[in-house]
Amino acid sequence: MKHKRIKAPKLRQCLEAAAAVIVAEEPRLNALDSAIGDGDHGITMRIGFEAVKQKLSILPESAGIGEVLKESGSAFMGATGGAIGPLLGGMLASGEKALSGRTEMGPDEFRLWLAAMETSLSRMGKAKPGDKTILDAVHASCQAASQTGSDSIGEVCAKAAEAATLAAQMTATMLSVKGRSSRLGERVLGHPDPGAVSFSLILHAFANCLKEAADEADPAL
Ligand code: ADP
Ligand code: MG
Repeated sequence: MKHKRIKAPKLRQCLEAAAAVIVAEEPRLNALDSAIGDGDHGITMRIGFEAVKQKLSILPESAGIGEVLKESGSAFMGATGGAIGPLLGGMLASGEKALSGRTEMGPDEFRLWLAAMETSLSRMGKAKPGDKTILDAVHASCQAASQTGSDSIGEVCAKAAEAATLAAQMTATMLSVKGRSSRLGERVLGHPDPGAVSFSLILHAFANCLKEAADEADPAL
């Protein structure tokens, strides 16, 4: 059984699970960025998620969903440089406004957060779907989440994660329009966008975390 709705403590676990996956995948993310960028994407993502973990470890237990997202986003942004720092930091933090007043995250709140991530990302990065960026994965996951009529956040997240993975794979067929890789022309063909791959890893980590603990009937989560 997957989680239907979660509270802030489970959201913190999901973010920690994402941090663990990103740390483990650092070499692969660097290699992907070496093919079409400057090779630092894994390092930046690892530094950002280590900062998120550190921030979560000192955040009071009483912190709600919005605060957890805001603090995670600002920790990520504050610790990282590169294109992805403000973009992904802003995406994480976008959940605070989108979910203001909510004490739980179910499918509707998860869809709202994904939509807020897409809005924040496209406003800041000015990319469009098809430009071979992280936005391709975010956009596909938003669409999948809105098309998944389930009352379980775990199920909606799993569908969103699958869609993000497919979209990240599809970026290998695209030319790059934004960021460093846009200078490389057709040399980027055959290589997926590192940011899109990172986003799919994050959603899969969330989906796994939501799946795992669903049997531990802990009301606090
Ligand atoms: P940098 O390009 O500064 O070295 P990273 O390597 O950490 O930063 O991140 C690169 C990723 O950032 C790309 O794979 C892409 O997904 C994302 N990216 C870069 N520019 C943009 C943008 N304008 N809009 C959306 N995503 C972008
Ligand atoms: Mg880079």
